[in-house]
Amino acid sequence: MVAFIIINILMQSLRLFKSVLFIVAAGLILTGCAQVADPEVNVYSSRKEALIKPALDKFTAATGIKVNLVTGKDDALIERLKAEGAASPADVLITVDAGRLYRAKSFGLTQAIDSPSLQNAIPAAFRDPENHWFGLSLRARPIMYAKDRVNPSELESYASLTTDKWLGKVCIRSSGNIYNQSLVASMVASMGTAAVESWAKGLVKNFARKPVGGDRDQIKAIAAGQCDVAIANTYYLFGMLQSDDPEQVAAAEQIGVFWPNQNDRGTHVNVSGIAVTQAAKNKDHAQQLLEFLAQDETQSWYANVNGEYPVKDNIEAHPLLVEWGQFKKDALNLAKLGELNSEAVKIMDRAGWP
Ligand code: FE
Repeated sequence: MVAFIIINILMQSLRLFKSVLFIVAAGLILTGCAQVADPEVNVYSSRKEALIKPALDKFTAATGIKVNLVTGKDDALIERLKAEGAASPADVLITVDAGRLYRAKSFGLTQAIDSPSLQNAIPAAFRDPENHWFGLSLRARPIMYAKDRVNPSELESYASLTTDKWLGKVCIRSSGNIYNQSLVASMVASMGTAAVESWAKGLVKNFARKPVGGDRDQIKAIAAGQCDVAIANTYYLFGMLQSDDPEQVAAAEQIGVFWPNQNDRGTHVNVSGIAVTQAAKNKDHAQQLLEFLAQDETQSWYANVNGEYPVKDNIEAHPLLVEWGQFKKDALNLAKLGELNSEAVKIMDRAGWP
């Protein structure tokens, strides 16, 4: 009788054990299926949703990989990645300016992606030499001028803006902005610190006013007659020309684009770019996304919607940009902009560039 009870208890335990085993196994299978059925990639982007989401949707349609998009300000997203560390849900960072991409890499927030297709697609100058980040679109920072007051034959290079001819006629935003830091860093790479410092002093001497506002405000200041020339990124002019606001269109129509340094290193360019995070849990999907965004079709859409230039030479730019003409780009590897950033900031400080 005792033996029967013991056997009975053992049998019941075995059944219970089997049930538990079954539930655990079913759970594992379900989780496994869920992962296979619902692959995803998490993106932190400083690009506004309208400027990136359609490309991400196309990626999902082509691959079945869901994209979860978080948008925010450039520096805030980098700070967030730092604070989240290894626990960050982000797989991918999309941001602007090679100086910032360099910064994200130097904080240990990115990782190398060994992808022959990315290396073939993106020219070497526009990606990190160690493949931590890749340019997705090019932004040019030329000289803009008042068409009614300046003959473009009077212009030549960034350096030529320091002559007395431009005394009180130059508008540019503050030195705290990374676009100017990267421009100055590119000049340090080709001219050296001493020459760039005297250039910066000469430029400050020619300022029409204390720097105020962003690039768009410098363009508007030319139209308003406050200055004759400015240094600004072309997509702002593009945005003004495409604006619903007739005042912005009217202002932009008064502005000419001059490509400086065509007889030497070329006009300063920068990128918007992308990196896979160090914390990525979905690295393979992230890499697939990078490769998708580097494809010709996506490149064409992405550059056009942003009013920027494609990073690939074989892709046609927006007709408005084509009107501004072809230009020689500075071929400097953009990682240099990050390396020389602090040197550039010190030079601008010493020059009294607010
Ligand atoms: Fe911008």
